[in-house]
Amino acid sequence: MSHTDALQLLPTDHRALLVGGQWRPSADGARFEVTDPADGSVVCEVADGTAEDATAALDAAVAAQPGWAATPPRERGEVLRRAFDLLMERADEVAALMSLEMGKPLAEARGEVAYGAEFFRWFAEEAVRIHGLWMQAPAGGSRILTMKKPVGPCLFITPWNFPLAMGTRKIAPAVAAGCTMVLKPASQTPLTMLVLAGILAEAGLPDGVLNVVPTTRDADLSTTLQADDRLRKVSFTGSTAVGRKLVEQSAPGLQRVSMELGGNAPFLVFEDADLDAAVDGAMVAKMRNMGEACTSANRFLVHSSVAEEFGSRLAERMGALTVGRGQDDGVDVGPLIDAKAVESVTGLVEEAVADGARLLTGGAAHEGAGHFVEPTVLVDVAASSRINREEIFGPVAPISTFETESEAVARANDTEYGLTSYVYTRDLARSIRVAEGLAFGMVGLNTGLVSNAAAPFGGMKASGFGREGGFEGIEEYLETTYVALPVP
Ligand code: NAD
Repeated sequence: MSHTDALQLLPTDHRALLVGGQWRPSADGARFEVTDPADGSVVCEVADGTAEDATAALDAAVAAQPGWAATPPRERGEVLRRAFDLLMERADEVAALMSLEMGKPLAEARGEVAYGAEFFRWFAEEAVRIHGLWMQAPAGGSRILTMKKPVGPCLFITPWNFPLAMGTRKIAPAVAAGCTMVLKPASQTPLTMLVLAGILAEAGLPDGVLNVVPTTRDADLSTTLQADDRLRKVSFTGSTAVGRKLVEQSAPGLQRVSMELGGNAPFLVFEDADLDAAVDGAMVAKMRNMGEACTSANRFLVHSSVAEEFGSRLAERMGALTVGRGQDDGVDVGPLIDAKAVESVTGLVEEAVADGARLLTGGAAHEGAGHFVEPTVLVDVAASSRINREEIFGPVAPISTFETESEAVARANDTEYGLTSYVYTRDLARSIRVAEGLAFGMVGLNTGLVSNAAAPFGGMKASGFGREGGFEGIEEYLETTYVALPVP
């Protein structure tokens, strides 16, 4: 598919900022290039927002806030439901555009559209279930009434790895709760979000409820908006380093914060596991999104009695994958996002090998244009090797072994992160013990896929705090007011 074909969804005048319902250039007229990670070619240019534009976007969100909060919940939900339908109708086109700017294979991009759209459907249904409480005080004599209100204008900052779903996970609960927002997409992948903003407008979202400011001047935008008392909430998905900075910046204004940060997921395979299922699950947990996912299996911890078999089966499957341009037929693994990512992933592999690991398959980057890395399996990886301590964010599976259940759990927890973990065992009691012992926000029990709009997604420790999706998701966008009612 040519760039022109995939770009048909996004008219030239929408490659811009969306402020108060108007598509407009940046205040200083600057634009930046969006490139195709498969060959480095320029896909198109997009307006590069300034601090002044960020403030204009917040002005629009603040102006829209009272009207949106007062809109009946059913109407807010119906906007989301229409957006779900429109997004699903255009799933193939949106997927093609996403694949072009981000690199993922078309089938995965379609999967992300379906997953991302589910947040619209789920929160369309949650919008009408926002409720408070009526109770008698324990000592009697008075009543306690609680009511829920939208937090107010929000700032959303999203990463490049899931250009659509990381946005809908925030937009959908905020829209349902009656909040307005300014969203800054990753500068590598702003196009999918601009298309999504157009779809939401078409679905009836009033002007100013969602404002989008693509920019390469990230720090200008976040410092300006977080210094503004009118901003009430920040929700961020991205790296732990940037998350820490945003939390610091939230202190003066005491903004509410949700942080979906990095991960270092352990993938535990016990000696009683169904090995076929474990290898299938490993392929999903490792190779989804080329390994560029915060949920990606980062450390394979396998019981020593099955490690050799698991490793050779996984290497066979990984080695048979087709690497190439995401839009081409038959491609399983697309390019990584940029040259820096390739350097970082191959550097981790080289260091692991220097620390004594053995390569079963892959290990190298492709020569030439595009940012391709071969699917790679490493065995005998030292626990202390940097590849086991840092987020790999690429198609590399490092395997090491354990002997006992308690050792497995202790090693799994031996990380600063706490987002996702995976456990393969057929023993029910062990499943429960291990799931209880893991210090992670999510546990995939005999599955390599945990993401579900109806489930609370999020982490602990350096993976952040707050939950997206599930019943918890909307609470991030609601304040509670309590009314004391003496009843003499
Ligand atoms: P990143 O932190 O570099 O960038 C994320 C976003 O923050 C981008 O939009 C970027 O432009 C913006 N940004 C960077 N500095 C900023 C600043 N000073 N002020 C405002 N915005 C700023 O992360 P990345 O490399 O794009 O994404 C990969 C990371 O995201 C990984 O660590 C991954 O684990 C994490 N991630 C987490 C989840 C989750 O839900 N926990 C999901 C996807 C990705």
